[in-house]
Amino acid sequence: MSIIRCENIYKKFGDFTALNDVSLEIPEGKIFGMLGPNGAGKTTLIRIINRITLPTSGQILFNGKSLTMKDIESIGYLPEERGLYKKMKVGEQSLYLAQLKGMSKSQALKELKKWFVKFGIQEWWNKKVDELSKGMAQKIQFIITVLHNPKLLILDEPFSGFDPINVELIRNEIIRLKNEGATIILSTHNMESVEEMCDQIALINKSKLIACGDVDKMREEHGKNRIEVVYKSTDSSVLADQEGLFSVISQEDHKGGKIAILEASMSTNNRDIINLINNNYELLSYQKLMPKMREIFISLVEQNNGATSTTDNNGGK
Ligand code: ADP
Ligand code: MG
Repeated sequence: MSIIRCENIYKKFGDFTALNDVSLEIPEGKIFGMLGPNGAGKTTLIRIINRITLPTSGQILFNGKSLTMKDIESIGYLPEERGLYKKMKVGEQSLYLAQLKGMSKSQALKELKKWFVKFGIQEWWNKKVDELSKGMAQKIQFIITVLHNPKLLILDEPFSGFDPINVELIRNEIIRLKNEGATIILSTHNMESVEEMCDQIALINKSKLIACGDVDKMREEHGKNRIEVVYKSTDSSVLADQEGLFSVISQEDHKGGKIAILEASMSTNNRDIINLINNNYELLSYQKLMPKMREIFISLVEQNNGATSTTDNNGGK
């Protein structure tokens, strides 16, 4: 069951097309990554899903129905452009914003206290926002976004501006929220996070959806059939190319044996390779190598840019 369904979304700003016929479905209870180069249209789509702005044409379905203002209450949204009132104190402001989301003051206070203890930031409560660093303010904004336990969280670049320790902290919280049943849509440039967290992704480039699907499947499909094997040889012979089966990309000494990267031909199955190695050597480990999301991202975007450079109607913008 998909919680969000985008149907043929177009968004124009004047004669510039920011989203060009984007259709996708976001499954419930998963982490969905919105990826793409700067200016691709990610934030525009997020703002449309959130009803901050309307599409020029196309529609968004929330649990199979047209999105209503009531649905918006069950969404937690962290905008790309963060904004807290600079002169207001952290605690006072957090309480105020939580109540805007429908929480009672006592409930908000209770939940906020839990979060401030958890993040070890109790002493920030009486500071003014303009006394906080950018990262600190962002942490407060994250807390405010998730405080009312929204069923759907939409996080626009939640990691930007954070140091690696805080990236890890926020990442773990997002995963915990998913495990508790929330659906999370996030846009990010942090590709390691995509691999670790996202179940599915959409890749947007120059206002068009160019790829969408399961992260694991995508990594498998884009794999070059590379395998890492560790083996021991009883004589001094080593693995060599096997016509029609695999070629040896690299090979070196490893813990008294050899470690080799093989590229299997398309028709080869794992068992053939394992049998061949076992017949001649002692096979210690066998592992399919998956491409990194970073590599897939770059390769798909470059392919798409090559294919559209002559038909781009946005004047190269
Ligand atoms: P991303 O989040 O993928 O980096 P955005 O969705 O913010 O990209 O922007 C996509 C494109 O739409 C950009 O070229 C941007 O300049 C343009 N754009 C976004 N919002 C507006 C707006 N309000 N008015 C005019 N152009 C806009
Ligand atoms: Mg953006």
